[in-house]
Amino acid sequence: MIRNVVIVGAGPAGLTAAVYTSRADLKPLVIEGFMAGGQPGGQLMTTSEVENFPGFPKGIMGPDLIGQMREQAVRFGADMLTEDVTAVDLRGPVFHLTTSSQQIEARAVIIATGASARLLDLPSAKTFWGKGVSACATCDGALPMFRNQVIAVVGGGDTAMEEAAYLTRFAARVVLIHRRAEFRASRIMVERTFANPKIEVVTDSVVDEIVGDTVMRGLKIRNLKTGAVRDLEARGFFMAIGHEPNTKFLGGQVRLDDKGYLAVRHPTSYTSVEGVFGCGDVIDPHYRQAISAAGTGCVAALDAERWLAARRG
Ligand SMILES: Cc1cc2nc3c(=O)[nH]c(=O)nc-3n(C[C@H](O)[C@H](O)[C@H](O)COP(=O)(O)OP(=O)(O)OC[C@H]3O[C@@H](n4cnc5c(N)ncnc54)[C@H](O)[C@@H]3O)c2cc1C
Repeated sequence: MIRNVVIVGAGPAGLTAAVYTSRADLKPLVIEGFMAGGQPGGQLMTTSEVENFPGFPKGIMGPDLIGQMREQAVRFGADMLTEDVTAVDLRGPVFHLTTSSQQIEARAVIIATGASARLLDLPSAKTFWGKGVSACATCDGALPMFRNQVIAVVGGGDTAMEEAAYLTRFAARVVLIHRRAEFRASRIMVERTFANPKIEVVTDSVVDEIVGDTVMRGLKIRNLKTGAVRDLEARGFFMAIGHEPNTKFLGGQVRLDDKGYLAVRHPTSYTSVEGVFGCGDVIDPHYRQAISAAGTGCVAALDAERWLAARRG
């Protein structure tokens, strides 16, 4: 059986594409992942309250939001497969996808595999994940737990500087920690950061441990030059050390941009391969929000639907 549309990924982008393509009677198969992107359901499965997704004035828990999107897609006839795609053959006209248990054939493929935040390899980061530790200031910075508190950010690129500046709106003080004395960030961002009276910049230093009890209470910061360890009292810790777009399984068969994100012809979702479409965080190094991922999921579904219709003639 050749599927009309196979959607790889079941976060907000993939599930939105599933709602649209199933309502268009394309009977999509959603390969929702297992381990490859962290977990089926994507990044929102790892968070608690989502306060900025329209339609939920009181907020909604991340897993509940994903659960409702999934239910909506299944209601209109989307099939779900909880496996990872490990390899693809995109030579076409029929595309082949390999999962852990089967080979799947598709006329059109929508890639919605997200981008995983790079995290520091600290056991205590897992312990305090969601209890002060985060990887997204836009998502979590405004939460009550961070208001008027000391918040630390780790990273040396533009994202780290942007996140530090954004967090100063809520925090009493932001401490930006970077392992070197030089920054990857643009000069203007570095200048703005140093000029911001609410930001303290700590260079040549790494975080050795996050400490706390039921929530995080502080960090142990080690100076790489002197070896001195400083205890910083802080209620938040944001890791801004980059993202890894989940594109390895594509085996170089679709064009990626210089950061490894799937390249699409904006404002469409067309990739370099006819019949393969991209949406969500995997195409988006800038915004990385649930609503923007859902928006491009809709775009990819409509593009795939129209592309298939044009081929049928
Ligand atoms: C802790 C945290 C809190 C956040 N809070 C908010 C918030 O409050 N508001 C907000 O708007 N945004 C928030 N975000 C960002 C938001 O989660 C992402 O922007 C959004 O989930 C991106 O959706 P996506 O569908 O593109 O990718 P994802 O949600 O990452 O989903 C990717 C999907 O692809 C699957 N996958 C990956 N690789 C493979 C493979 N090889 N084979 C099969 N499947 C695969 C995964 O299993 C998953 O199902 C948060 C992110 C994090 C990490």
